[in-house]
Order: sequence, then C-alpha cells, then structure tokens
Amino acid sequence: MEKILRIDMGAEGGPKVTIEPIGGYAGLGGRALTSAIVSKEVPPTCHPLSKFNKIIIAPGLLSGSIAAMSGRISVGCKSPLTGGIKESNSGGQPSQVLARLGYAAIVLEGKPDSHDLYSIFIDRNGVKIGVDNGLKMLGNYDLVGKMKDKFGDKIACISIGPAGEMMLGAASVAFTDIELRPTRHAGRGGPGAVMGSKRVKVIVLDDSGLPMCEPKDPVKYKEANKIFVEGLRKHGVTGQALPSYGTEVLANILNEAGAYPTYNFKQGTFPGVSKISGETIAALETERGGVPTHGCHRGCVIRCSGIYNDKDGHYLSKQPEYETVWANGADCGIDDMDKIAMIDFLDDNYGLDTIETGVAIGVAMDAGLLKFGDADGAIDLIHQAGKGTPLGRIIGSGAAVTGRVFGVERVPVVKGQAMPAYDPRAVKGLGVTYATSPMGADHTAGYATTANILKVGGYVDPLKTSGQVELSRNLQVATAAIDSTGMCLFIAFAVLDQPETFQALIDLLNAFYGLSFTADDVVEYGKRVLKMERDFNTGAGFTKEQDRLPGFFKKEPLSPHNVIFDVKDEELDQVFNW
Ligand code: SF4
Repeated sequence: MEKILRIDMGAEGGPKVTIEPIGGYAGLGGRALTSAIVSKEVPPTCHPLSKFNKIIIAPGLLSGSIAAMSGRISVGCKSPLTGGIKESNSGGQPSQVLARLGYAAIVLEGKPDSHDLYSIFIDRNGVKIGVDNGLKMLGNYDLVGKMKDKFGDKIACISIGPAGEMMLGAASVAFTDIELRPTRHAGRGGPGAVMGSKRVKVIVLDDSGLPMCEPKDPVKYKEANKIFVEGLRKHGVTGQALPSYGTEVLANILNEAGAYPTYNFKQGTFPGVSKISGETIAALETERGGVPTHGCHRGCVIRCSGIYNDKDGHYLSKQPEYETVWANGADCGIDDMDKIAMIDFLDDNYGLDTIETGVAIGVAMDAGLLKFGDADGAIDLIHQAGKGTPLGRIIGSGAAVTGRVFGVERVPVVKGQAMPAYDPRAVKGLGVTYATSPMGADHTAGYATTANILKVGGYVDPLKTSGQVELSRNLQVATAAIDSTGMCLFIAFAVLDQPETFQALIDLLNAFYGLSFTADDVVEYGKRVLKMERDFNTGAGFTKEQDRLPGFFKKEPLSPHNVIFDVKDEELDQVFNW
C-alpha cells in the first residue's frame, strides 16, 4: 500500500488519473489517512458538494494481510450532514482487495460539469473510467448484479444508490460482502452524497492474481495473529455473544438497562423488544434457512453478522444490525421484524444510512406525519426517499432537516447527525461521546456502553456523571487508533479486558511495518488523529457550543430511571484537554 490513486473528476477533457507515492502520508491508514487528507487538502469552509471537497476511501494499516478482522475500510470527506470532518467506517470485501491492489487510498476530487455518470474499474493492470449513464438511479443490488454480469464474481464493488445520486444528506457508500451483495455501508454523515457530487456510481475492484500483503516479519506476524485470534475467541462478547446473536444481542440488554430509546427518545424501554431481539432474530434465521453467524469480510473470526430470510425462506436482507433494528424499530414503535428487515434491504438498496433515515422517520412520527408503529408508512417513506419525491428528499436529508421542516423541537441530533441506539441520559458516557466527537452523534467514536453497561474494561455507573468524561476521552483516543488499523472495532471488547490481546494487536503492527510501537505510541497516534479532526472542525466554524446535546435531554427525565443528561458543559469542554 505504497500508492495513492487520485482521480480528478473535473479535469478538462474528462476524469484524469494520477498514481502517486504515499509520500508525506506514509504511516497513516484508514481513518488517520482519510482525516489527514481531508485536513490538509479540503478547505474547511467549502461547500461539501462543491469541487473543493474530496472523498477518500482508505483500507486500514493491516488490511489485505492475513491478520484476522483487518478488513474494515474508512471513507472520509467534509460531511454534507454535519458540515465538519467525517470518517465513516464499513466492513465488506473492498478493503482487503484495495490493499492487495497496492493502494493506500483512492481520492476522488474535482467535479464534472456534465450530468454524466461514471464507473471506474481497477485491477492489477491499472484504472479504467467510463461514462455509464445506463446505471442512473439503479439500486445498489441491481447495480452490483450488472457489474457481476460484466466482470464476473471475483470482484468487489464500492457504489452509491439513488440517494447518493440525488446527493441526500443520509446517503451512504455501499461495499459488497463475501457473497457480492451491497450490504455493508459507510452510512454516517452522508458520504454517498459526496461520491454522488463527483458523479461516480461505482468503483469495481479486481485483485485477481495478486498475493496477500506481506508483513516485514512474517514469523512474528503469524505468531501475533494466533494470540490475537485466541484472545477474541475466549472473550465472552467476541467469542460467544456476538457470534451467536449478532449486534442485536444488545436490544434486551439496553432495554433492561432502561437506555433503549423508544418513540423518538421519549422513554427508555420498548414493550415490543422481545419480538425484535437478537435471540428472536437468530431463531428466525435458523428456522427459515438463513445464516445466524456470518462474517462481513473474509478473515473475520467474530462473525457478528448473518443472513435474514423471509417467511418463504428467500433472502430478504443481511442480518440487520442493532442500530438498524432500533432506529427503525423501537424508535419508531415498530416491532415487526420482517418489516424491519425489509427496511434494512430498502435502505441498502437506495443507499441510505439506516440510523439517520430511521431517526428521521421517528421525528416525522413525532410530528404526526404518521403514527408510531406504522411499519407500512415507514416503508412508503423510504420508497419515497429512494425515488426522490419532495417528502422523500426531506426524510433522506436526515433527522435535523426533517425536524426543521415539520417544526419538531425534540430532534435527537448532534452537529446535525442523528443519535444512535443508546439514550445519553441513561448511558452518560456515550452522551459525552455524542456531544464531543468531531463526527457528530456517533456511538462508534467512543463506545462507552462497554464500561457503562457491559462492564468491559472496568465499570462506570451509567446513571452518574462521575468518570464519564475520562471514559469517553480514553475510548475516543483508542477508537481513532483502531479505526486506522482496518480492524473491526469489536476487537475492543477483548483488547480492553485482556492485556495480551492488546499486546498482540501492537505486535501485529510492529511485525507488519518493522516498527517498535508501544501502547503509549498507540495512544499518541489516536490523539494525533483527533487533533487533526478537531482542527478541521474549528476551521469550519465549530465552537464548543456545538459540543452539546439538544436541550430536551437536559430537562426531560427518561423513564424508568427518571434521569436527565447532567454532565456539565464545563466538563464536556475537558474531553480533549489531555
Ligand atoms: S465482527 Fe461483525 S462487523 Fe466486525 S468484521 Fe466481523 S462481521 Fe464485520
């Protein structure tokens, strides 16, 4: 991964390809690389859909190698949703394939004058770009089907659906999984809209004939990987809970904790939770001939995903993730699992972030546009977003826009991005992360559910304010580093609890790059990434006033604990004061 592939989509005479050495960005991968390029090359005050913005797609530092769990990919840009820097992270096959092709990143820059739509094909022989207007407004599933017909099934695809072409704020970038389905998405913050503004519909990758990425010290690398995998297998969360029930295992846990946001964040428990729990989904998948345990990319040993079939045993969607089931389930008062799986499929197909879109529908329900629990109404709204009706474009522009259009005060967003599936009043560490992350409300940016609820990496009482700032700070720093390695964030459960698994991760990095990194160096690396991101946001006009939760979290008590979010503003301002 010594090269950066730049494609200037606005060059005179058509897109211009430049392949350059990684140069000054050496040592950076995944989120560190996308955030460094955005910080250095994108004017912070530019319009996110203008020619000045760039979209960067970068595998992690260890992607493409034999290291387990190393197939995550980062997508960076100035976010059309938040107006700040964005790194959105996805699973799927493209990270491994792109790394084996030797690219540390693809950078799409500039903007074509015409409305033509382009496809890009990359293999060991180079890069081909062509106008492909026949792909206009295709859903991701049909699009990938066409690519498969054209290039065979040894490819991996990065694409946008109609939502990206329409440049909607909730538009995602899709990544194909092991079965070559477009089920993995960089959804948060609207990166699909930026790819749409570059008029790139799909990037097809083919690494046929290319070997795995080789570490500098293969013996030590293999050894470290063995210890790393053992650590993941023996931890209760990564070795049992996630493989058995997927991320939706959290539904019952968060509901019991009274932190499961329901009816647009009105209460902390959902009466219909048992119908949409991880246990229920796993049973349905087994009964209907689906797959309850499945990896989103080759080399995943946790395998938190699955395949969800309909009542007749036909493929309906991949196993919907916890946040998807929540946003389109409890938050909208919907407890019909088949309808939620259909929503998951439609969002993937139209290229919409399942969290942003679900929360936007919850806000619309709060406004009285439809009733809580109206699953068919929700499905209709998603079809409208995919087709681009005026109402659909409002929903597809996210929760903040939907709230403004319908005059709703209770809109659960930070920096314009919808809050995920953990109520910040009852998981206060996560509330600190939502408020202060440079990404906007993002559970993955500093997943305090670990110590607050799951008692992983220690315990900090979720209902009290004490210790939350420190918890969020440490997790945000660690996450920024992990997101740069290409490792799935779920390794954090084992890494936080087992010193030998954390050491194995560091040994992997050292053996791959011939370094002698220590735990302190990893912390410094994470801090450096966060600093770049914070500086970009400052340049874009963000102040500490944007590091706050919406007012209703501070005044409306959440049942059943009757708690408000009471971490003081002055404490929030200390998160990055290290
Ligand atoms: S644990 Fe889940 S999200 Fe992580 S890489 Fe595996 S399947 Fe993908």
